[in-house]
Amino acid sequence: MAGNEEIIKKLVKGELKLHQIDNYTENTQEAVEVRRKFAEEISGANLKHLSQHSMDLEKAMKRNIENPIGTVQIPVGLAGPLHINGEHAQGDFYVPLATSEGALVASVNRGCTVTKAVGGTTVRIIDDKMTRAPVIRANSVTEALKIKEWIERHFIELKEASESTTRHGKLLKVDPVVVVGRYLYPRFTFTTGDSMGMNMVTIATEKALEILTRETGAHVIALSSNLCVDKKPSALNLIEGRGKTVVAEIIIPPEIVEKKLKTTVKAITEVNLAKNMIGSAISGSMGFNAHYANMIGALFLATGQDEAHIVEGSLGITTAEEQNGDLYFSVTLPDLPLATVGGGTSLETARECLEIMGVYGGGNVKKFAEIVGGTVLAGELSLMGALAAGHLARAHKDLGRG
Ligand code: NAP
Repeated sequence: MAGNEEIIKKLVKGELKLHQIDNYTENTQEAVEVRRKFAEEISGANLKHLSQHSMDLEKAMKRNIENPIGTVQIPVGLAGPLHINGEHAQGDFYVPLATSEGALVASVNRGCTVTKAVGGTTVRIIDDKMTRAPVIRANSVTEALKIKEWIERHFIELKEASESTTRHGKLLKVDPVVVVGRYLYPRFTFTTGDSMGMNMVTIATEKALEILTRETGAHVIALSSNLCVDKKPSALNLIEGRGKTVVAEIIIPPEIVEKKLKTTVKAITEVNLAKNMIGSAISGSMGFNAHYANMIGALFLATGQDEAHIVEGSLGITTAEEQNGDLYFSVTLPDLPLATVGGGTSLETARECLEIMGVYGGGNVKKFAEIVGGTVLAGELSLMGALAAGHLARAHKDLGRG
């Protein structure tokens, strides 16, 4: 490491860039240490915990991270058994949740005990797609409409071109094709197998655009236009869906509501109306729910999903109704970009967390989606119960403040 002192000095002086370090060191591990020591040097911070990990950063550098200096540790708790009656996930599951929010795992766990007590939560995937929408400029609105018509008439050619780039991506439709002035926004919609699919559909859409521009003279302004809609809250995704669209529902007899959630069917339905419906409406929120982002965030961090998609997973609507004295409770998640292949799923801890649920690798993403839906229902039900019973502040005081 003697020579590395020189490298660090050069970094401090700005004579070397962070990404050049790998060319001056023996191996990835040494480059990681040099960058970390540089960060210590310029900040005065002691980074001993960032350095403690078992992750293969050389492998991670091939697709997941640039300029690594270590890893962040987030505690992982286990909730369950979560009982699911899905088409792909059936029976009991234990769910790993990565979070620093005290009370979250306990809350999801409480919801899981309700799913077990009533024989399960029913979960269904009602849609499955990934989207990429470029923006194209024509010379006039008349020409924009001609290009729109060309897209509609040449779907087969666009499909063949895009699918030539992938074994698993399939172009379902190009819809909607929105025209604004002389700009055109065609939304390319694919299925992507067990991958989340953003790289896949971006590469495939770019290939389709080669034909489109060649045949129509259209000018591509950007491969992504924000009509995709990737990593932003959006009414389009709420209505049309993106990733997996999942519904989970449960029917709970009143005695179980009272025993497990310490409240009543009536109190939960009223909290749902006043909070998730009216409260969300007056605030202009697109999340007509109590806290989907909590369960989505903890599951996404544990399992190597793209964490920026938590914002999409936060969309959705919770319903709660009294039905012959029982509580009918459901969560609808229109926008869950999920993967059991690709992205961060093969990072060591992500893989292990997926393996806890038996969903690592190909052929498992729908099973995973149903477990995610069931987990969100468990956490949502528990918080709604706590709010209805007036227990929320106490639970956070006890579990979140030591
Ligand atoms: P990816 O790892 O880039 O692609 C998935 C790969 O897995 C493909 O090579 C695919 O082969 C292969 N594969 C093997 N078995 C498969 C199976 N059963 N189902 C599906 N694919 C299978 O992952 P991605 O999902 O396309 O993209 C996810 C990454 O994109 C994340 O890291 C995310 O952060 C990032 N991202 C990218 C953008 C962007 O605009 N590019 C935007 C947001 C996020 P084939 O290709 O032959 O089908």
